Amino acid sequence: MTRDESGSVEQVVKALVCCGCGACAVICPRGAVRIAEGEHFNRAHVDAELCVECGRCLGVCPAAGAIAGEEGCAARHTEGFPEHLLLSAADDEVRRDGASGGLITALLADLLDKGMIDGAVVVRQAEGRPLYCRPTLAESAAEILAARGSRYQPASACLGLREVAEREGRYAFVGKGCEITALRKLQAAEPLFEERIVLAVGLFCAATPARSSTRGFLDSVGVDLAGVSSIDYRGQGWPGMFSVMNGTRVIYGCAYRQAWDFLAGGPRSLACLLCDDGMARASDISAGDPWGLPGGSEAGGGLSFALVRKEAAREALAQSLESGALRADTPPREWVSGRLERQRSREVRASAARDTYLALFRRKRVLAALKGGLRCFRTIFRQRLRRDQY
Ligand SMILES: Cc1cc2nc3c(=O)[nH]c(=O)nc-3n(C[C@H](O)[C@H](O)[C@H](O)COP(=O)(O)OP(=O)(O)OC[C@H]3O[C@@H](n4cnc5c(N)ncnc54)[C@H](O)[C@@H]3O)c2cc1C
Repeated sequence: MTRDESGSVEQVVKALVCCGCGACAVICPRGAVRIAEGEHFNRAHVDAELCVECGRCLGVCPAAGAIAGEEGCAARHTEGFPEHLLLSAADDEVRRDGASGGLITALLADLLDKGMIDGAVVVRQAEGRPLYCRPTLAESAAEILAARGSRYQPASACLGLREVAEREGRYAFVGKGCEITALRKLQAAEPLFEERIVLAVGLFCAATPARSSTRGFLDSVGVDLAGVSSIDYRGQGWPGMFSVMNGTRVIYGCAYRQAWDFLAGGPRSLACLLCDDGMARASDISAGDPWGLPGGSEAGGGLSFALVRKEAAREALAQSLESGALRADTPPREWVSGRLERQRSREVRASAARDTYLALFRRKRVLAALKGGLRCFRTIFRQRLRRDQY
């Protein structure tokens, strides 16, 4: 499966490795691919009547690239970085209600205010449908603010790029590792995305919890989904609260950690289990939580641990720091190396599991499969499979 090959993402869906990023639906010239929102995850669905197997969808599919043994497009986008920073929104409310430190929301709103971007592709809850996300092009600070926080459910962020295709301008894009890889492939395939997306903001991601896990959690705490208008997975400080609303009334709330532990214990997609890109390597800047930071960040409010990978991102940050929209700190070196080490071992585990799966899937290279399996078990044995976020 490579860019020049014919076929469709149906192959990827059959191989069970579709991550539901949405890029295939954006690129298909015949509207033959849509994203089906299943009980657990989002998946590509190809309409056989419309599809002519031109292969364009495969060309932008992050999983098809992995199946074909592509190294990924991450390396092309690092330019001698990354730089590690602890960043937070200077505005207390944005910081408090962001997922970690409100960095992404504050940065996008500030770039918009300065005219450096005309908007950003973000993910927010679908109106009145708390178990579903709506990727959208936010063109005002209010819309960017409304998308703050992490939604721990399937999102298909690339679908928001359809609006970018219809509008001239310069935009930012926010997505997880798979969605950023898909964005890079779309940019290579379609010059308009290369011109219009000027900043790719990645989210660290251990895995996307299933839609059914949120449903299961609400059931387990006795909340009737019929009376829920919206869910905030994060907010109200760090690591924050999981809050369920009926209109503006909070009908259930618990510590973020309680909800996350339940969600993380639910079904995981094979795409996530085999993913070795937890820090969105192909992004210009990516952000995660400051887990394990000495002293924690509870007392002073949240912080976003950011990896800056490109000059353009560094410049954007410098301007937002100068104008006072963001605050920055340098993380302790030992903490950063511990954090990255943990990440690396997770990547080793995932790539070993992926090699094994792909070797088995192709029904060849049995020896490679066995070797990969042994590597996988060895790492699992050494580190014990943890459910917590890194
Ligand atoms: C599914 C998932 C798993 C994650 N796992 C980890 C982890 O293991 N370790 C870790 O350190 N961090 C993880 N994160 C990232 C973390 O939760 C924060 O998003 C990150 O720290 C940035 O926080 P912030 O306050 O700067 O962002 P905010 O200012 O709160 O902005 C968040 C942005 O993320 C976008 N967004 C929200 N949900 C989604 C989604 N599902 N898909 C795509 N875009 C979305 C919103 O549009 C918004 O623009 C995960 C995030 C998600 C969505």
